Amino acid sequence: MTLIENVHIAPVIGPEIESGYIRIEGDRIAELGPMAQSPGAPGTTRIDATGCLATPGLVNTHHHLYQWATQGLAQDATLFEWLVALYEVWAAMDAEVVKGAASAGLGHLALSGCTTSSDHHYIFPKGRGDLFAAEIEAARELGLRFHPARGSMDRGQSAGGLPPDVVVEELDEILAATAEAVDTYHDPSFSSMLRVAVAPCSPFSVSADLMTEAARLARDKGVRLHTHLAETLDEQEHCLEQFGMRPVDYMDKLGWLGQDVWFAHAVHLSDGDIARFAATGTGSAHCPSSNGRLGAGIARVSEMLRRGANVGLGVDGSASSELTTMAGEMRQALLFQRARYGPKALSARQALELATLGGARNLGRQDELGSLEPGKLADLALWRVDGPFTAAVDDPVCALVFGPQPPLARLLVGGRTVVEDGELRTVAHDATGRAGAEAHRRLMRLAAAR
Ligand SMILES: [Zn+2]
Repeated sequence: MTLIENVHIAPVIGPEIESGYIRIEGDRIAELGPMAQSPGAPGTTRIDATGCLATPGLVNTHHHLYQWATQGLAQDATLFEWLVALYEVWAAMDAEVVKGAASAGLGHLALSGCTTSSDHHYIFPKGRGDLFAAEIEAARELGLRFHPARGSMDRGQSAGGLPPDVVVEELDEILAATAEAVDTYHDPSFSSMLRVAVAPCSPFSVSADLMTEAARLARDKGVRLHTHLAETLDEQEHCLEQFGMRPVDYMDKLGWLGQDVWFAHAVHLSDGDIARFAATGTGSAHCPSSNGRLGAGIARVSEMLRRGANVGLGVDGSASSELTTMAGEMRQALLFQRARYGPKALSARQALELATLGGARNLGRQDELGSLEPGKLADLALWRVDGPFTAAVDDPVCALVFGPQPPLARLLVGGRTVVEDGELRTVAHDATGRAGAEAHRRLMRLAAAR
């Protein structure tokens, strides 16, 4: 049993507690309350969290971990220009690159308060090793909860798509590999550390047949569906030209709206699109830093929330949002909404909810994750908000969301310490960053030799 004491608790669901305790039994939260009621049982591991803010662990719902190896390229490009510049480099990646990039990306996420991350891996060049297994191994070593999505592309340039034919796969092999990934790795149990989603890449790189078959496969297997949607106006134009309809209409036609679906970005939505998301329980992953970097636009998040559509956050791949942290995405989301709609558009606590419960809903895990409540998993972050700079901020949740990330005193995943005093504890602290730098060098070498 672990007892965290003297901590300001922002549970996301339920009232905040200024000075409280959290008791953890096994991998679950057993109880929490004000310090006056702390059980203080002998023989317990006690963590004195004086000066800290406890929040649920942050949930990242969109990423491309392999992109750690291609940061800082195509710096001033639109999405389509950026993709065309990078596809050829990504075609050279192998399992070693993916392992190193995933170690660095996930280590970086853990250090910014993230306890659960999804990943969308959609390029599988032939003969380059088991890329999907490589990223899963990185997540297991670090001890983060992981939701890898088996991505895919089957619509190369010769079929009217954006990617070169060298990075796309055949429909049948995609479906077989995706089914195998689910059968091999997906664990649907409560407290699962690993769940697999089905994730064809985007309307401009995937055929209608693959979208339809992927949805059928996911529903047969009882796993979730994910793809990019309505990210840029170029994509909207592509859909109007190629399919005669806007992106959300197209996905609706293919059976892709529902409680088991979450889309990355969803920037360019009409009022009707938002209403359909709300009515069908379709979620989205808001990725403000990436949208800013690529000049994609500002998603209508505060309107979506007001109308009952679920929104979580995503850092997106590091090649379109270099070194973006989960804690930083809360701030970026808040600033984007306020810049667009005014200061009442999104509060600090709503931003925290996007990063926690909103993400848990995207992944179908709102009964296990996303808030600090008895019975939920003990995934939580302790932020040190009494440091020389943050101590002057009147409200600890404001300090976390409005400012730069405060030091991370502790990160627990299922009650297990992954980060302590700002350092990784499950793996050698410096090893993940070094692995990421080596992955970059290796990929650049491999790409130059192609
Ligand atoms: Zn993405």
